[in-house]
Amino acid sequence: MSDTDKPATGSTMSTGAPAPSDRNSLTIGANGPIMLHDVHFLEQMAHFNREKVPERQPHAKGSGAFGVFETTEDVSAYTKAALFQRGSQTEMLARFSTVAGEMGSPDTWRDVRGFSLKFYTDEGNYDLVGNNTPIFFVRDPMKFPHFIRSQKRLPDSGLRDNHMQWDFWTNNPESAHQVTYLMGPRGLPRTWRHMNGYGSHTYMWINASGERFWVKYHFHTEQGMEFFNNAEAANMAGIDADYHRRDLFEAIARGEHPSWIMSVQVMPYADAATYRFNPFDLTKIWSHKDYPLIKVGKMTLNRNPENFFAQIEQAAFSPGNTVPGIGLSPDKMLLGRAFAYNDAQRNRIGTNFHQLPVNRPKVPVNTYMFDGQMTYEHSGNAPVYVPNSGDRSWADSTGKMEDGWEADGDMVRSAYTLHAEDDDFGQPGTLVREVFNDEERAQLVEQVAGSLLGGVRSPVLERAFEYWRNVDAEVGRRIEEKVRSGTASQPAEGMGEA
Ligand code: NDP
Repeated sequence: MSDTDKPATGSTMSTGAPAPSDRNSLTIGANGPIMLHDVHFLEQMAHFNREKVPERQPHAKGSGAFGVFETTEDVSAYTKAALFQRGSQTEMLARFSTVAGEMGSPDTWRDVRGFSLKFYTDEGNYDLVGNNTPIFFVRDPMKFPHFIRSQKRLPDSGLRDNHMQWDFWTNNPESAHQVTYLMGPRGLPRTWRHMNGYGSHTYMWINASGERFWVKYHFHTEQGMEFFNNAEAANMAGIDADYHRRDLFEAIARGEHPSWIMSVQVMPYADAATYRFNPFDLTKIWSHKDYPLIKVGKMTLNRNPENFFAQIEQAAFSPGNTVPGIGLSPDKMLLGRAFAYNDAQRNRIGTNFHQLPVNRPKVPVNTYMFDGQMTYEHSGNAPVYVPNSGDRSWADSTGKMEDGWEADGDMVRSAYTLHAEDDDFGQPGTLVREVFNDEERAQLVEQVAGSLLGGVRSPVLERAFEYWRNVDAEVGRRIEEKVRSGTASQPAEGMGEA
């Protein structure tokens, strides 16, 4: 709107007609009743009642920024995806979040952090929806709603509850790796800029010759990893509950653009059958010693949202959004999420969430999904069915999918098949014994014991001691000793939680 066509004063109603007053409602006499024909007042109130959407369940609290991903290396041997060809620069959006806390909860409570990326590529939108950890608590999506409820609030008091959390974790020993990671130093990142990100799941890459590979994504922060201790985090939760949101926004506004180097681990397709760990189990990493990191490029966040609600709250990510050259894998959690995420968006922001500017691909869309609430884009009078005799094209590939895999057998409800070194406690044991130093092991003992002292009762308590003895006999012994003697300092509210 130019200065010349701007109304001399005032605002408008949503119809564009001049609004009568944003300060005084219409009454009969100065002290009289409000008139029903004050349409402007009625519209204001009705819209205000609807100006929030349901918060995400989970990952409610977060924020993000726009940026660019530049592919600096040649990985064309592994994928034909346009965005990962050397020299390619792709506009993108990142959203970071906590998992369990609600919209207003402190950013610095101990928790896993979401690390969600949307790449607006020349071949459609590609989303990578990971965390700041390379693993997760469960490996079957059937357990996911139960897991999240156990981390949220009790049905009667509405309070969060350590007993409930440890009850879930100890009844699901595959959680041990992620719980160890979370209770270790990386459970309290100092800022989102100072943490790594991981795609976590195993994905497929396909090269131009149709060769398939399994991949895992790693994003290493160029700011260096930095963490809070419990006292610093608790203090910050009181001083500034939005510390991480503020830090990212203000850093970008100052021109300090955070960046991450993206690397992948690449596993030849056939290796999956015999690798010592089941490569599709989300509770396991692939050892760097077996599959070293291969650098791909760099992600830089350089532009703040202009409007938090429109561009961050309404941003809709789904790990099911892939592009040619990238596929899913038999990871059950990934396949569960490939459905659940877009379905959550339909519930949260509406059937046509993909038409919102922040979610819209930069390439033309020719979809056979029509109408529904808030339809904005449409295809005019073009045919709405296939096959059609008009000039509207449709998709028609048949036969073997290039991003597929072989599957056969009875329909079963079962855990994954075990590979040579698959068990729930091996990798967390390695983390505790071979990656953590003495100080980090001592912090882990203190953290876990403090959390258990925060209301965890028998028999969950005894199960927790056994859980930690299974991770590492000595660490388990020290945790039990601290709890029995009551000598651990209890983490502040939220600090023992995930
Ligand atoms: P490596 O010794 O090659 O890798 C260990 C990795 O652990 C490091 O590269 C680093 O990952 C990460 N790490 C370092 N300090 C900590 C910490 N305090 N808390 C959590 N992670 C830390 O061995 P492997 O690859 O064989 O893995 C050994 C164990 O390391 C695994 O069982 C797993 O628990 C953990 N780990 C492995 C990762 C992987 O993808 N292989 C990734 C992260 C952890 P990074 O470079 O990503 O920061």
